[in-house]
Parts: sequence; C-alpha cells; structure tokens
Amino acid sequence: MDDKKLIYLDNNATTAVAPEVFETMRPYFCERYGNPSSIHTFGGSVTADIENARAAVARLLGADWKDRHGKFTEIIFTGCGTESDNAAIMSALSACPRKRKVVMSMVEHPAVLSMGKELEQRGYPVSYVPVDSNGRLDLARYEEMIDADTAVVSIMWANNETGNIYPVEQCAEIAHRYGALFHTDAVQAIGKIPCNLAASRIDMLSLSGHKLHAPKGVGALYVRRGTRFHPTQIGGHQERGRRAGTENVASIIGLGKAAELALAALERENTYVRDLRDRLERGICGNIPQAEVLGDPEHRLPNTTLIGFEAVEGESILMRMDRLGICASSGSACTTGSLEPSHVLRAMGVPDTLAHSAIRFSLSTYNTPEEIAFVIREMPGIIAWLRKLSPFWKK
Ligand code: PLP
Repeated sequence: MDDKKLIYLDNNATTAVAPEVFETMRPYFCERYGNPSSIHTFGGSVTADIENARAAVARLLGADWKDRHGKFTEIIFTGCGTESDNAAIMSALSACPRKRKVVMSMVEHPAVLSMGKELEQRGYPVSYVPVDSNGRLDLARYEEMIDADTAVVSIMWANNETGNIYPVEQCAEIAHRYGALFHTDAVQAIGKIPCNLAASRIDMLSLSGHKLHAPKGVGALYVRRGTRFHPTQIGGHQERGRRAGTENVASIIGLGKAAELALAALERENTYVRDLRDRLERGICGNIPQAEVLGDPEHRLPNTTLIGFEAVEGESILMRMDRLGICASSGSACTTGSLEPSHVLRAMGVPDTLAHSAIRFSLSTYNTPEEIAFVIREMPGIIAWLRKLSPFWKK
C-alpha cells in the first residue's frame, strides 16, 4: 500500500510513534543497551535516563510529589495499559483482603471489564454502573453501589469508543466517602485533556504509551503516595519492587519523550485537532441523511467522533473506506472481528441496527485539513452506494 495516501483516523486504536520519540529511543538499542541494574557505569548510567522519563510522565500527569532522592516514585513503568489496569485492581484487593467488593462502569475497556468478569468467577462481588443513552454515567446508581465493603472502584476517564469524558474527580470523592480506593483507566484521556493529579483525589491511574505517540509495549501506573501497593509481577527489585522484570529501557525513554511532547501539544489537541474533528463531524452529518453522532455531545475527547449510519454495516463501510486508504474503526478495535455490537453501545441502549453501523473516527495532531476534506467528500458516496444494496434502507 502507498503510505503517502494513507489517511489515518484510528488514533484511539494506536498512534504513530513521533519521529522525535523514535530518535530519542534510537541510542538505547545498539549503543546504550546496558542493564540499569548493573553495577558498572555503562549499565547504571541508563538509570538516570529512566528517572528523567519518569519525571516527564509525572509532569504530564501533574503529579509533583518526589521522594527524598528527588524521584517521582508515584509513577511505575509497566508493559501496557492493560497491565496497569490489572495491577491496580488486583493490588487494591490484596492490599485490603477484608473488603471484597469491586465497582466499575458497564462501558469500561475490556482491560478492566474482563477483569471484573474474572473476579466474579473467583467469587468477588462486582457491580457494573449503567449509563444513559448518551453514555453518561448514572451517578445516583454509582453511589448506591459503593459501601464500606468496597475495596476499589474503577471508572475510566474517557471512553475509547464514544470519547465520552467521565467525572472522575466526583467519582473519586464519592468512593472515598465509603473508604474505597479509586482507580481510573486514563489510557484515552492522557495527552488529550489536562490532568492535574496533585490537586486530585484519584488514587491510581493507568496510561499507555502507544496511544500518545510512544511505542507499543510500554505503559505506566500512577499510585498516589501512601496508597498500599501489592505487585502482581514478582521477581527482581526493578521499579522499587513494584514491577519486577528488566526495564524496557528504550520504550520507557520513548514514553518520557512522548509525555514531554504531549504536554507541549495539549493546547493544539484542544484547538487544532478539535477543530478538525468538528469539521469532519459537521461535514459528514450535514451531507448524509440519517447519520448521527453517538455519545455525549458536551463532554467528549477533542479527537473522537463515533457516527452511526442507519441501515449500513460498519464493516462494509470500513472496507470501502479502506480501498481509499482511509483507516477508521467500527466500535473498539479490540472487539472488531466479533459480530456482537459493542458492549458500550449496548449499555447505551443503541438499537442493534444503528450500533452495527457505527464508525469511530479518531484523529491526531498529524491529520491535516486536506485529509479531512477528502473524507468529507468521499463518505456520502460510500454510504449512498451501500444503502442502495441494503434491505433495511427505506428508499
Ligand atoms: N483502556 C482503554 C480505554 C483503551 O482504549 C485501551 C486500548 O485500546 C486499553 C485500556 C489497553 O491498553 P493497551 O493496549 O496498552 O494494553
């Protein structure tokens, strides 16, 4: 495929590694390949670079606390967002074995939701908070589900399919009222909206490198100082014993650089990228009958729009877009391949026919107005052609 013609609008699935990130990582493969745990200077010197990366991630999260050695030890590097999510929930349960209840929303990513199902299998009571037709959390039900036996609550900061932003500060406040720990899966939020953990009540937060122009296979877990943490990965003393295993040095360095770039680009994300997304949304919905945006119109990530096209199959739309070099997603990439409508749209009560037709466009700072204009031009033809073939389309 001719890469020059690729129009990549699937940034909630994964992002391109930023060229600056790649260049920063390069020396750590063949030149500075030492093990940070080694006693010799060659290996040990890498440790300072890892600490700089940790400081950059802490700055992006607004986590300003340092230990007496000046290290931002609230940040633990992990292998991905999924690992961070799993580690946070499992840690909360083993740190406080007396409490067994877990609360999460019905629209969590499988990294959290499947953990909920697994915990149920192991005998833990897990409650799932419902959402309304716009995907907004039912806060009254949320509070009813939490009590003094709740060990941990996990509510995502932003949804990967709709882009909905959830009121995590308010949720954390409520969880604390009952003595529960509060974790948020912020994999889609970090780098897209501001984060200030120093002024927050969030106890644990997950992020993932490949959603913010760092490579795949690296993530981080924020654990507020004073929060008891029980590691799931046991072994050596890396990450102060909280995540054993030789560090993925190059990727950690890359994540640090990506965090620095993301912090500098936050405003652009909320002006330039938001403007492109809005233009795309208006261009599509204004030119195609019965195309509607699904999700919360008010509290949404600046880069995401999920659009339902009545009476057409999402997969067929994606295939025709693919021929033109346009990459997007139908619902979550993780559920693509299954014929079930996404659990998020199900939870919102979106009718199956509309849910099956939903296409998620997720933009990044690398998209251009020309690309968006091209997609706006091509989409009406794609939908009209597919509707002509559709037995569900009332002509
Ligand atoms: N949480 C959310 C909201 C996500 O969108 C994703 C990935 O799509 C994950 C968790 C999992 O992250 P990773 O791919 O780094 O394991």
